[in-house]
Amino acid sequence: MSETTSSGEVRGPVATLRRIAFLMERQREETRRIEAFRNAARTILPLPEDEVRQRAEAGTLTQLSGIGPSTAAVITDACRGVVPERLLALERTAGPLADGGADLRERLRGDLHSHSDWSDGGSPLEEMAMTAMELGHDYLVLTDHSPRLTVAHGLSAARLARQLEVVDAVNEHVGDTFTLLKGIEVDILDDGSLDQTPEMLAQLDVRVASVHSKLKMDAAPMTRRMIGAVRNPYTNVLGHCTGRLVRGNRGTRPPSQFDARAVFSACVEEGVAVEINSRPERRDPPTPLLELARDLGCLFSIDSDAHAPGQLDMLDYGCTRAAEAGIDPDRIVNTWERDRLLEWAAARL
Ligand SMILES: [Zn+2]
Ligand SMILES: [Zn+2]
Repeated sequence: MSETTSSGEVRGPVATLRRIAFLMERQREETRRIEAFRNAARTILPLPEDEVRQRAEAGTLTQLSGIGPSTAAVITDACRGVVPERLLALERTAGPLADGGADLRERLRGDLHSHSDWSDGGSPLEEMAMTAMELGHDYLVLTDHSPRLTVAHGLSAARLARQLEVVDAVNEHVGDTFTLLKGIEVDILDDGSLDQTPEMLAQLDVRVASVHSKLKMDAAPMTRRMIGAVRNPYTNVLGHCTGRLVRGNRGTRPPSQFDARAVFSACVEEGVAVEINSRPERRDPPTPLLELARDLGCLFSIDSDAHAPGQLDMLDYGCTRAAEAGIDPDRIVNTWERDRLLEWAAARL
């Protein structure tokens, strides 16, 4: 995508700071260091351009809260029409995150799984939406967690209702070429029911259902639990189906045990998409299950599961895996245009 491969483009100070943060994030640099750039962007965003330029020339940017020597240097360069060395260095390594999925990535129109700071994401939902637009998406589904996932600040029905008003407000400002869609990553409870009220689920555009607790339960009850969720007419996407972690700072975790043929067959019957979760620490489903789902005729959704704006670009990893498995792009629901996607997501209601 041109956004991630362009280098040496001259931008204003706010756009330069945000671009640096985005590129650091997609390479998984430390959150605290990335936040310095986003905070600096937030600090200067409301200031008149003249004031920023005058402060840059006078060397007084660091008197503003949220701006330190390195972010001040970036702003000063940007004010002078110079691309900071920091950004040039990041752009030099900003190619695709994984090889072999570029054609498929080109065909993706959006992303069905993302988090904001309303649950356990690191950025405001507006920032997630803005970055999705910059990536060329037509839509992004905001899928913050549900109430029972308290460690991730899951949203109660009341908080979700408030979030939907904010999403409406964002959409009023972004124009026709992009839509922030209303969604949820709803927990699949032990008995296979979903962790949000039907009234709230009905107000959403797309619902991802995932197992986050008791991942080690026996295969028979886990199979019943997952099929229960798939049969629920509100479920559109089965999120990271095995729950495994293959690497990363949360350690590793084995895949949950269940009858994958039975679960994926239910997905085919109900038109539920099996998620290809792009996060490198998940790589979920594992390849043998991905191939089984392919052979059974499942729909798929290639999702970033982004918890920060730069992670929205992780779709590269999922595209590579889908391409390697030879999955037909028309069976991947986020290659569909928005209205077709919405029609599919509402088909069982
Ligand atoms: Zn999840
Ligand atoms: Zn998630």
